[in-house]
Amino acid sequence: MSAFQRIALVHYHEIGLKGKNRSRFEERLRRNLEFLLAAYPLVTIHRISGRLIVFFKEGTGQREAFDCAQFIASVPGVARVSCGFKCARDIDEMTACAIEAMGEAGDPATFKVSARRSHTDFPIHSMDMNRLIGARLCEAYPQAKVRMADPDVTVGIEVVQNASYVYCMSMRGVGGLAVGSSGTLLALLSSGIDSPVALWRCARRGAICHAVHFSGRPQTSDASEYLVDDIARVLERSGCIGKVFVVAFGDYQREIALSCPPSLRIILYRRLMLRIAEQLARRVGAKALITGESLGQVASQTLENLCATDEVVSLPVFRPLIGNDKLEIINEAQRIGTYEISSQDAPDCCTLFMPRSPATHANLAEVRKAEEAYPYDEWIAEICASAEVHEYRNPALPLHSLH
Ligand code: ATP
Ligand code: MG
Repeated sequence: MSAFQRIALVHYHEIGLKGKNRSRFEERLRRNLEFLLAAYPLVTIHRISGRLIVFFKEGTGQREAFDCAQFIASVPGVARVSCGFKCARDIDEMTACAIEAMGEAGDPATFKVSARRSHTDFPIHSMDMNRLIGARLCEAYPQAKVRMADPDVTVGIEVVQNASYVYCMSMRGVGGLAVGSSGTLLALLSSGIDSPVALWRCARRGAICHAVHFSGRPQTSDASEYLVDDIARVLERSGCIGKVFVVAFGDYQREIALSCPPSLRIILYRRLMLRIAEQLARRVGAKALITGESLGQVASQTLENLCATDEVVSLPVFRPLIGNDKLEIINEAQRIGTYEISSQDAPDCCTLFMPRSPATHANLAEVRKAEEAYPYDEWIAEICASAEVHEYRNPALPLHSLH
């Protein structure tokens, strides 16, 4: 067991964070991490000048601490995580700590020391610390050579306030802002590849994201609902989702399909979806909607058709993927961990009553005319009242009854 306390240093981007905003943001991130890390062997999380420090329980092993660091890196607001030890502001202790940290890094052939002082009241300059501790590491590990450019291992040393932190393991985080610092949104969430990525991007920017899923039930099975639940559980791990409304949309689609010109069906489905989403958004206090659309990706996502759907709601519709190619979206879905789930086939309202050739340039006058045939106000009220609500754990929402 190590003589030093295991810690993880959490860095965030400070750009644009000043004064009161900054401490509010730090506190938000600290509380989110505390909430999300409940299952890990932590003692506490502290804020110290521009960083958060996660203190592990005595006896926590390297593997456990690294796993936790890897998890921390996936939490919105985290720009970098470094995993190592805390010791005194004493060069001998720092050296002993560095020797231990490098021992855990395997047998690196090359290394360098990168020291920083946050407070210049520590008498030894960073460059001198690099040299001194570097020389002692060479004695302790004679096979390891110092190399400044692209070494196998960088031994980070940070002197902050009244302690030092030493680590060899450091990784980039997802960045962004802590969930709960950018307001509330509602995403239209299918079980497909795109919309989970669109939602995640907004959560990464600090939004609390709720969602609505339109199931083809009772005209299809409820398979897509299970996939959406699996997707929500992945997003839940990093605190990126709140409530998910599940709407049984099949019968309404059927009504539309029975009498609307086939080429306009998709536009009508979409416009109805957005109207419903807007109502649900108001219920949860969301100030904008999110979709996973990307310009021109499919027939329903031509510029004209996107505009035709926007027309029916007064809330802004955010489309974070609008300029992305499918491959980029797939890569991101893989990183987030939703791709495997989204790749499973499940009929949802999108596969139901689809026309052979959907209009790519819908004529708005025709669309509005076609809609007059349906009692939308009644439908929307009925649908919203019967929507099922699934709640997920979100660090920025008050505790509610779970599952
Ligand atoms: P995705 O991969 O997100 O399913 P897609 O490439 O299948 O998108 P469309 O079917 O045109 O594209 O859907 C565009 C957007 O409309 C989706 O990204 C999503 O935001 C919303 N949407 C589509 N189907 C549903 C659904 N069943 N429930 C909720 N939202 C949906
Ligand atoms: Mg889809």
